[in-house]
Formats: sequence, C-alpha cells, structure tokens
Amino acid sequence: MVMAYDKKLITVLGATGSIGLSTLDVVARHPQRYGVFALTAHRQVDKLFEQCLLHRPAYAVVDLADDARRLQLRLDDAGCSTEVLAGPEALATVASAPEVDMVMAAIVGAAGLVPTLAAARSGKCVLLANKEALVMSGALFMQEVAASGATLLPIDSEHNAIFQALPQGFVPGAAGSGVTRILLTASGGPFRRTPVEALAGVTPEMAVAHPNWVMGRKISVDSATMMNKGLEVIEAHWLFGVTAERIEVVIHPESVIHSMVAYVDGSVLAQLGNPDMRTPIAHALAYPERVDAGVRPLDLFAVGQLNFERPDLERFPCLALAYRALEEGGIAPAVLNAANEVAVGSFLDGALRFDRIAGVIAATLDAVAPRVADSLDVVLDADRLARQQAASFVRQYVR
Ligand code: NAD
Ligand code: MG
Repeated sequence: MVMAYDKKLITVLGATGSIGLSTLDVVARHPQRYGVFALTAHRQVDKLFEQCLLHRPAYAVVDLADDARRLQLRLDDAGCSTEVLAGPEALATVASAPEVDMVMAAIVGAAGLVPTLAAARSGKCVLLANKEALVMSGALFMQEVAASGATLLPIDSEHNAIFQALPQGFVPGAAGSGVTRILLTASGGPFRRTPVEALAGVTPEMAVAHPNWVMGRKISVDSATMMNKGLEVIEAHWLFGVTAERIEVVIHPESVIHSMVAYVDGSVLAQLGNPDMRTPIAHALAYPERVDAGVRPLDLFAVGQLNFERPDLERFPCLALAYRALEEGGIAPAVLNAANEVAVGSFLDGALRFDRIAGVIAATLDAVAPRVADSLDVVLDADRLARQQAASFVRQYVR
C-alpha cells in the first residue's frame, strides 16, 4: 500500500555544495514526501543546471545576472520550466516564499546569514548547516526564531546528535533541567599527531584531506585548525542555551559518537553512526519520524574500539580563540568568524601559512573594539570591519 503524505516543499540554499548534494540525495529517495521549490548556487552553474533537470524546482538562484541569463536559456532549451533569479536578494526571496515549508541553510560562511535569517523570520522549518550564520548573530537569530515560531533543526552532526540525546520537546535555546554538560566530540582532524613545528609546512591539499569526513574546502580547513569545533561550541551555546563552561570538547578520532549529553543522575546519552551527513539530514527532514538515508549500518565489530583524548590548546589555538570570543560576547563571535574566513581563504590561496591562521584571528579580535550585537546592521558592520583588519594582518605576514 502506498502511504499518502503531506508533501513538503524545500528550498536548498547552497545546493551544489557538499551538504546540498547530500540533501538532494536524501530528498530523491523520498519523492512522495519532498518536493524541491528552489535550488541555489554561487558560481557552479553547470552543476546547478544538472540539478534543475533532475529535481525540477520552481526557482534556481545564482550570484551573477549573466550566469542567470545563460542558465535560463539552457533550461528553456532542455524543456525545464525552472525560473532563474540572480543575486543575494533572490536568496532571501526563495528562503521566505509562502509556498516553502523547509529551508536547508547550506551556504558556506557569512554569505548565508541574510537568507538564513529570512527563513527564520518567515517562520519556516530551518535546517541549519550554516553554523557561521548562528555564530555571527546568535542572540538576534534565536530571537527571530522565537518571534516567528520557526522550527530550528540542527544539521551539524554534533548538534544533531545532541538534539537527539536531549529530552523530547525541549525548547530551542533551553536544554532544560537535568542536563549538566554537553560533550562535543571532534575527530582532531588530519594533524592530531603532527609535530607542532611541522604545521608551518602544511599545504591546502594536506589540510583538506580529512581522515573521516568528506566536506567543502573551508570547513575541512576549519576542522584541521579545530576552529570548526570552536564555531560549534558557540553554535551549541545558542542552540541549546548552555554556558561555555558546560560545553566540553572531547577528541574522539573514530568519529562514531557524534556528541553526548550528560545528565545530573550520571547518565550520558550518545548518538552513534557512520560519519555520513545524510544521517543528520534525514533526521531533520523527517523529524519527528525516521526515513531511510542511504547510510550503511554501523558495524561496531569493524570499529573495534572508541578512543577519547583532551584537546591540546597549544596545537589548536583556534579553539581557545573561539571560547574567548564567546566569553567576550557582542560582536566578538562575528569578528572571529570573519577573521577566520579571511585567514582560511588566504591559506587556501597560498598567501598565508597554516600555522599563522590563528595569529591573524587573534590580532583581529584585539583590533576590533567590542560592541553589543543588537541589530543585523551592527553584525554586518563588524563582519566588514573584521575582514578589512584581517586582510591587513595577512598582508603583514606576507611582507
Ligand atoms: P561547500 O563549499 O561544499 O558548499 C557551499 C555552497 O554554498 C555551494 O553551493 C556554493 O555555491 C554556495 N556558496 C558559496 N559561497 C556563496 C555565496 N557567496 N553566496 C551564495 N552561495 C554561496 O560547503 P559545505 O561543506 O557543503 O558546507 C556548507 C555549510 O554547512 C557550512 O556552513 C559548513 O560549516 C556546514 N557544515 C558542513 C558539513 C559537511 O560535512 N560538509 C558538516 C557540518 C556543517
Ligand atoms: Mg560538525
């Protein structure tokens, strides 16, 4: 018997990226449950063209008007009725359109903030992969979610694991009584055992080769510096309403336990699985039901053992910088994020040594004056200013 479902319409922001591809893979497994309303990409027009033919969205969005015109012609020729839009405003439009039920926020970096916020403001079910948006604007973002009644479901594997280990029906921003600690697991990335002196010689190819996960380039570098875990500490603070002292980072090289919640009675609840983002994506798409994600079953006998270590803050100074920014509050996390994006971009372009990423971020945090982050304009100003400062610190290193 075929079950009848209320078909959900989805906008995928960042459809051509690693999370976007995994999302469309899960969506395609359940055509009776999900339809695609809009797909967006930055410059990867060929990939987006193929995705439009396959998923037949009502809208596609790219960055440049010229790309949009060319893509529209190709889609028309192929008999595909998708309408192509261009520019950042169009991202917000397809994220907040009345037809849309769910928005997968999977643009990388600060570019995702405005459209993700637009989805939250319009009361959508927001599937949040774009952690940078929440890091930049935590308080504002959570206020918008509360005010509109939007549903916020974490896609980041750790936060999705925590969400699964928290009591049913907890309110976003408030983990609830009985929770004593959040244990955020981290693989430690490719340089967990590399001598600290050798980090100066790390190339982009070495840094993006993650031992357990296949991801976009920026987050792969963030995993290698552990800034990714730092951003995730800030993300967990906002999503679950837990203070920094109660969020503990645990290095777990096998990446099988995706995070844990410790309770006052001594219980520790963990979520386990193979490292495959389709699990948290499927969990959030179907929540509170469960659907097949195409993920192979976890074989504990093949895993054999699970190990745990404390993170070494000398090896991973970026992790300490994220705790510092969370403690400073206000615009500091937005400054941290912007400086990190500039430093990582410069590293990937070959203009900055790997072991100098943290130095650029620390100098930027010192240089930008603290401010209360009480509006989107203040956050976007802090982002701009921090980018300028960070770029000048990168240039000082180059000289
Ligand atoms: P990616 O680089 O593979 O893809 C990024 C997507 O965003 C692409 O579709 C790209 O076209 C689009 N994009 C890039 N810059 C843009 C801009 N300026 N304007 C509009 N669109 C733009 O990145 P990813 O690895 O899929 O990560 C996406 C987000 O998910 C990030 O915030 C990352 O931290 C988070 N995340 C990723 C993973 C993972 O396994 N890849 C896991 C957890 C969280
Ligand atoms: Mg993660």
